[in-house]
Amino acid sequence: TKENIAVFTFFGATGDLAKRKLYPSLFKLYQKGYLKERFGVLGTSRADWSTDQFKDVVKESISGLESSAEEADKFASHFEYVAHDVTDQPHYSVLLDAIKELDERFDAQGNRVFYLSMAPNFFGEIALNIKSQGLISDNGYNRLVIEKPFGRDYKSAKKLNDELTLTFDEDQIFRIDHYLGKEMIQNIEALRFGNTIIESLWNNRYIDNVQITLSESLGVEERASYYDTSGALRDMVQNHIMQIISQLAMEQPVAFTDADVRVEKVKALRSLRVYSAVEAAGNFVRGQYAAGDEGVDYRDEDGVPEGSNNETFVAGKLLFDNYRWSGVPFYIRTGKKLADKFTRIDVVFKKPLIDIFAFPQQSDATLSANVLTIYVEPKNGFALTVNAKSAGQGFETEPVKLDFYQDEKSEKDVPEPYERLMHDAMEGNSTNFASWSEVAYAWKFVDVIRRLWDIEEPHFPNYLPGSMGPKASDELLERDGRSWVYKL
Ligand code: NAD
Repeated sequence: TKENIAVFTFFGATGDLAKRKLYPSLFKLYQKGYLKERFGVLGTSRADWSTDQFKDVVKESISGLESSAEEADKFASHFEYVAHDVTDQPHYSVLLDAIKELDERFDAQGNRVFYLSMAPNFFGEIALNIKSQGLISDNGYNRLVIEKPFGRDYKSAKKLNDELTLTFDEDQIFRIDHYLGKEMIQNIEALRFGNTIIESLWNNRYIDNVQITLSESLGVEERASYYDTSGALRDMVQNHIMQIISQLAMEQPVAFTDADVRVEKVKALRSLRVYSAVEAAGNFVRGQYAAGDEGVDYRDEDGVPEGSNNETFVAGKLLFDNYRWSGVPFYIRTGKKLADKFTRIDVVFKKPLIDIFAFPQQSDATLSANVLTIYVEPKNGFALTVNAKSAGQGFETEPVKLDFYQDEKSEKDVPEPYERLMHDAMEGNSTNFASWSEVAYAWKFVDVIRRLWDIEEPHFPNYLPGSMGPKASDELLERDGRSWVYKL
């Protein structure tokens, strides 16, 4: 294992994400030897904490993972805390002193990772202050890791990006999309480009349609007031689903490097058909959950304004205008309070052109379509459904599943998305981060739908908890003579 050397500065160090994900992920990297002695962590936020208090919080956040109290103490000894308001420009000098001290103490050679785990309205200002107040080192690398959301439409995303690039170049900016840290999302590339039997069929000659489902079973919970300003389209489609779709649709990269993969993802997103308002109305469906037997209507959740028109469900049909995909719909759906919590991708192949078994004397069963399902979560695996002969004297066919799931041991070896992504950032590997061009094309696609929904009054609520969304989502496929592979 290669030791990484850096000083991390976490803005928003007392926040929920830092405690739940960031410190535990760093700790796992520490246990695996990706971090050894030569790293320091500066935590900063507005809260008036001492370093000792901070260390206690860090230790609490990793409790259960440590092999001994001594190990936890040693890890925590790399952490310092400075209370700081990010809008207080002169005060950045205090951060600089602390970073320099950590750099010297742990011999970090000027390598700096600035991690913004705060409300996005501060991102631009922090980046500008990092530069103007001299926090950038001149003897190591300087990298910015930035949480979602990246803007709320193309215009605001562009403004944010313009602000960030005054300080950081594109190859220094790591936009987190934690779906890209998931094992089976990364497996899309292995499945496609490592298998002749898959990639040679990966086009409109053999594929009928592709379905992506990101299903959540919970409602908005404590994030209601944030979620109400975002909605499913911005929160899930613009980022995660667009990233997944670009990996499914892209051409083969020249090599498996971040630069080569990015070129292909951007090319794929460029050929995604951006709808007119009329087309968007025909190809996208939104929903909002109703109370059901136990809960309350979304509109009545704490923190949600009365009569909110925010969508908690989206389904849509996307089309690529290129040689590979022309005529193949990519159906997507995501929502809250659905039947179950899972993410899966179903690639539905065309049926054989001629069904010789349907010849009247032989059988009245029809062949099913082959489906390649990629199970992203909660299980890591995939399955291929093929037609085979049913056992017995007659000649009937039935679909059988060839499937593979990672065993418990491999599942345990799978790093948490944040662990993988923090490691990638230290390695300077951007493969699993969203580039600016990808973000920009995704917003341009989503903006059309958003603008339409902002002016049209929806009929909400329109689906029950525990369902797979509004009826219109099923009709979107039925209209094309198709149906969702996963149904209740
Ligand atoms: P949080 O509200 O729990 O924490 C915010 C942090 O910012 C706190 O440490 C607070 O002290 C600090 N802060 C606020 N104003 C400040 C100021 N003026 N100066 C200095 N510090 C200030 O937020 P969070 O849930 O940890 O989320 C952080 C980021 O991560 C956000 O961009 C969010 O969208 C993103 N994110 C969070 C989650 C999650 O599960 N929590 C998931 C995905 C993305």
